[in-house]
Amino acid sequence: MSEGLPAQLPAADWRARPGLGKLCMALGSEQGEARFVGGAVRDALLGLPVKDIDIATVHEPDEVIRRVKAAGLRAVPTGIAHGTITAILDHQPIEITTLRRDVSTDGRRATVAFGTDWRDDAARRDFTMNALYADPADGTLHDYFDGRADLLARRVRFIGDPHQRIAEDHLRILRYFRFTARFGTLDRASPDFAACVTHATSLMALSRERVADEMLKLLGLPDPADVVAAMVSDGVLVPVLPEISESGVESLRALIAAERSTGVAPVGLRRLAALLPQDSAQADQVGARLRLSNKARQRLRLAAAPADAATPQALAYALGEESAVDRILLGRSFSPEHAPSLIGWTAPRLPLSGGDLIAMGLTAGPLVARTLQALERAWVNQGFPDAETTRDMARQMVESTLRSSQ
Ligand code: ATP
Ligand code: MG
Repeated sequence: MSEGLPAQLPAADWRARPGLGKLCMALGSEQGEARFVGGAVRDALLGLPVKDIDIATVHEPDEVIRRVKAAGLRAVPTGIAHGTITAILDHQPIEITTLRRDVSTDGRRATVAFGTDWRDDAARRDFTMNALYADPADGTLHDYFDGRADLLARRVRFIGDPHQRIAEDHLRILRYFRFTARFGTLDRASPDFAACVTHATSLMALSRERVADEMLKLLGLPDPADVVAAMVSDGVLVPVLPEISESGVESLRALIAAERSTGVAPVGLRRLAALLPQDSAQADQVGARLRLSNKARQRLRLAAAPADAATPQALAYALGEESAVDRILLGRSFSPEHAPSLIGWTAPRLPLSGGDLIAMGLTAGPLVARTLQALERAWVNQGFPDAETTRDMARQMVESTLRSSQ
């Protein structure tokens, strides 16, 4: 027995969610036909909060839908081809998946068959710590591959032969590093690590979106620096992100330290910005290659572009709060202690319009726009003074413009 971890699924808030017991019973949990699985079981054993509840069941999807509805809940066929039905319990989704085994795999997608064998279902999961099942009623664990012992030892271990498991689904390489950064200790001597390094080029066969999604999840963890350092030094990222170098890892460490000292929550995209060279054209290329949204691409680009502002607020006014915080924590503008005050800061609006300048005596035309711009600059640099002060500033500007045009 592994000490230091409960022998059964511990009592926790999420297990007492109203309606959950009824849903499990409807799925036949008392007959051993439905169990909690995956992240919920793993995280609960570690005493961590659980967000997503996954249930595995011997029933096929149509039967799952019937049973979920009979329990008075909404059933959404979110991934029916893969056997997943989502039950909505108190506005929160619970994923219910029929037991499966792989029929064929090609590194990117799997064809599955439904089954009734728990061990088969466990065997197609990625890591031993992700293949733990628990009976909803009494919390009894079902552990087919020593996942509990690995969890205790903080060992992220592939189920079966790592080479074969990576050949089946290349994304598992990135998942290995993500779970290692989250729960594990980095063991460069392990066969699992070695297999991930050996097969790194197979990452090129994956869709860029999946790579990006997994990388951003990894980077968004509290401290992925040691794992990323190992990925860089052993060439794991070269096939997908050749721009990242050892100096990028140093910037990542500095960013993490700045986030910690200021208490600002990590963001995967900001961590990625730290890893990339400070070159906005390159940042944009990476954003395009990873098929990031326009908003995310812009964020990556702004983190790397030259920017000049009189104050942290002026920077936030020009780039938006998010990008200003990014630049400050990345050590590219001002110093880190300015970051927290910008979080949630909404830029004030210039309390004057072109119409006001015309009312002060300017003739409608390009001069109005130019004067308004100059006024805005002065207003930003002076820390967004109130309407009255701004009006005084505007009057002086209009007067001197009129004087010089006479
Ligand atoms: P998280 O808290 O990050 O969501 P999780 O363990 O729930 O962690 P998911 O990606 O949501 O991870 O996947 C749910 C479960 O599905 C995993 O615990 C694992 O058993 C299985 N799984 C997910 N992706 C794969 C994969 N690529 N190969 C094999 N099994 C996988
Ligand atoms: Mg999950």
